[in-house]
Amino acid sequence: MATSRTGTAQWFNVRNHALRLAQQNDQTQCPYCGIPLDYKNKRAPNGAQVDHIVPHSRGGSDRITNLIVCCARCNQSKSNRSAPKQHTKPQSKPLWTSRKW
Ligand SMILES: [Zn+2]
Repeated sequence: MATSRTGTAQWFNVRNHALRLAQQNDQTQCPYCGIPLDYKNKRAPNGAQVDHIVPHSRGGSDRITNLIVCCARCNQSKSNRSAPKQHTKPQSKPLWTSRKW
């Protein structure tokens, strides 16, 4: 089965799920740069976008545990690099409970 990513209904659902979770967890800031996230205008520089912690190019999955909500700018600038594992401390609560955190 092809591992298509963006554009599929499944990815759409997972992405929306991640965004919902982030809002439910009161994640108001980008975990990378700390900018306040805009959940309504996702095309804004600080628009909330769903990012892969481990990129597809490195075998990352679309599972919720591999996703993080960050601002559009960080999402784009990060591109295929791996996410910074952590800043000295998280600037907001983690999206979901995971052993990785
Ligand atoms: Zn950011």
